[in-house]
Amino acid sequence: MEIRQIAGEQVTFHRFNTVVVGAGAAGMNCAVHLCEFMKRKEIEAPQDRIAVITRGLALGASRMSGSDKQTYYKLGTSPNVPDCAKAFADTLTAAGCCHADLALAEGINSLREFCHLVQAGVAFPTDSVGTFVGYKTDHDPAERATSAGPKTSKFMSECLQKQVERCGIKIFDHQEIAHLLTVGSGKSKRIAGVATMDCGLRIADCGLDSPTATNPQSAIRNPQLRVFLATNIVLAAGGPGEMYKTSVYPKGQFGIHGLALKAGLVAENLTESQFGLASVKFRWNVSGTYMQAIPRIFSTDAHGKQERDFLADFFPSMKAMATDIFLKGYQWPFDPQKIENLGSSLIDVLVFNENQKGRRVFLDFRQNPKGSRSMQPFNIDELEPEAFEYLQGAGALQKIPIERLAHMNPLAIEIYREHDIDLCKEPLEIAVCAQHNNGGFAVNKWWESSIPHAFVIGEMAGTHGVKRPGGSALNAGQVGGLRAAEYIVNAYGGDVTQLPENGSEIERQIRDLMDKLDRWGKSSGRRPQKAIEEIQSRMTASAAHIREENNANESLRSALELCREIRDKGMAATDLPSRIAAIQAEHLALASVAYLKAIVDLLVQGGGSRGSYLVLSPRGIPIHPNVIDPATGEPLAFRPENKDLRDRIQQVEYDESSPDLFRCTFVTPRAAPIGRKSFEPAWRDYREGSIYDL
Ligand SMILES: Cc1cc2nc3c(=O)[nH]c(=O)nc-3n(C[C@H](O)[C@H](O)[C@H](O)COP(=O)(O)OP(=O)(O)OC[C@H]3O[C@@H](n4cnc5c(N)ncnc54)[C@H](O)[C@@H]3O)c2cc1C
Repeated sequence: MEIRQIAGEQVTFHRFNTVVVGAGAAGMNCAVHLCEFMKRKEIEAPQDRIAVITRGLALGASRMSGSDKQTYYKLGTSPNVPDCAKAFADTLTAAGCCHADLALAEGINSLREFCHLVQAGVAFPTDSVGTFVGYKTDHDPAERATSAGPKTSKFMSECLQKQVERCGIKIFDHQEIAHLLTVGSGKSKRIAGVATMDCGLRIADCGLDSPTATNPQSAIRNPQLRVFLATNIVLAAGGPGEMYKTSVYPKGQFGIHGLALKAGLVAENLTESQFGLASVKFRWNVSGTYMQAIPRIFSTDAHGKQERDFLADFFPSMKAMATDIFLKGYQWPFDPQKIENLGSSLIDVLVFNENQKGRRVFLDFRQNPKGSRSMQPFNIDELEPEAFEYLQGAGALQKIPIERLAHMNPLAIEIYREHDIDLCKEPLEIAVCAQHNNGGFAVNKWWESSIPHAFVIGEMAGTHGVKRPGGSALNAGQVGGLRAAEYIVNAYGGDVTQLPENGSEIERQIRDLMDKLDRWGKSSGRRPQKAIEEIQSRMTASAAHIREENNANESLRSALELCREIRDKGMAATDLPSRIAAIQAEHLALASVAYLKAIVDLLVQGGGSRGSYLVLSPRGIPIHPNVIDPATGEPLAFRPENKDLRDRIQQVEYDESSPDLFRCTFVTPRAAPIGRKSFEPAWRDYREGSIYDL
């Protein structure tokens, strides 16, 4: 560590071999493996060569998010149903736009990483002979899904953190990433490190509440700039959850997409995110048993009055309606291919429609669904066979939903109790929320980004393609961390960065950052929180699960305007919390332009409804005869998927000279490697390290 004077301020410099940005399940796992691989290569004191940096150890999706039984999707471990990596990879690539080499690596390394978690202490359930018990998601025959309960990813990151601490790796907490430092250009461009603002804030101040200038707890320090230089950077900062107003991402999950894009990393599949039903007071997915218990779904006006069982207008019978509610459990993400013929995603559309009218929607576990006058009352014996047989098999034929839920999954009730919501006493408000980014940054089969020595793992990596099986995000995050760590140590070595020759360029970027913060301190521009709210409203309106070309185009224009305004006028940011919020607003604004540009570009290319979003089009397929477009009085219709685009992955790259700041191009998904060497030549490749030749 050294302290340098830059523009009259003290800046702390740290040097490492590898800096991991983000302390979620992905980042922590990568840090552990880096240490392990360095030890294996007998590199001295690995713990001094690696650092983990995060804005909050207790923040991020891994620590704070989950569902009824949060799923970890791995290669099958059933004692009597065979599974193999190729079949696993085929499932991952089935909906298109997914590199098959990555999918195969996720399959091949799945059990290695799963066992690592077990060794780290995550309590995945076993039976009396030691089988890791699995369940089927979306009918996968190999029962690949498993769970350590509602908080699987929290347990993962906690257990991995203990391993990181045991290794002696330093974790720098409360560090807001303010800038990615770059050196060189073209093919020799590198990310030399990150500049952070030491927020030193309590978690409650760290974006979870609106930062205020008057909060005495948070106004205690000036921003302390730190610089972490490293030979390799692993970006594991999660998804850009705060980009959306209606979101089940934990509060304060900003990510660093805008910073990474500006640094020159190429993104892929930014159009593909996942949306689904979640509770809004306490952000949590209402998937699995929450819906399989078949609660009543109703809406009220903004004040919680005038209850209406709005679903009943759209279903011919109680049987069809109650079965659809049940199916939402394991058909959780909104899926445009499950709308026609009363598919279960019709429910998401209807919930969203109520919200659009200013009404609030609730699940009530104290009552069974209520129908219209023409419908029979709810009768559990009269569900469609798929639902009835499941509930019968689970012994969950009790009278009311809360009893069925308590029988199937008492922890699902407990998690709400921990957050002061008693499902036995009150209804639960829900909405269709942004939940996960399937797209992200382009990586090769070692999870190295478009810039050498910069790796992207976890949700920040765009490895999933159009659709992913539930639970595969956690598997991908672990595998990515393993692969990046292995490559870094074996291909690039363990040296701590030197970088004296680039010192002046780095200092220039730090001076620019300081100047910007100073300017913002004197600016009469808008408050950063206002800019963030504008971005969130725009993204939920135009870039969530319902999209329309003209609307997306207009939103792109206003997103660009906001970026220009921030560049020209700055933001009013006089104290530490507002400066941090201003940094976040600036990179979130840029990220939102990238996402909107990607959406507009794909729609112009003829993209239709796919993955987890619907593209509205007057000449398309009607959603339902009673779902009416208020503008035309005609049934609302959607454009079906354009299947030709399954073999074209959209890439997005920052280009300051482009009128939209970003350039979109298409690449063909990479194939999986075929042909396997016999043991001896493969062993030689391994010994000689040629497996790391790209
Ligand atoms: C409600 C919900 C339910 C889910 N259920 C499942 C499931 O059942 N199965 C499944 O596979 N996946 C699920 N997911 C997705 C999965 O939880 C995430 O994709 C995964 O946990 C992401 O892990 P990560 O390590 O990449 O990022 P995160 O866990 O989000 O960690 C990001 C890290 O980066 C830090 N960070 C972020 N921004 C900054 C910044 N600007 N400066 C400094 N540090 C920063 C954060 O503080 C944190 O330490 C769910 C997600 C949600 C929201």
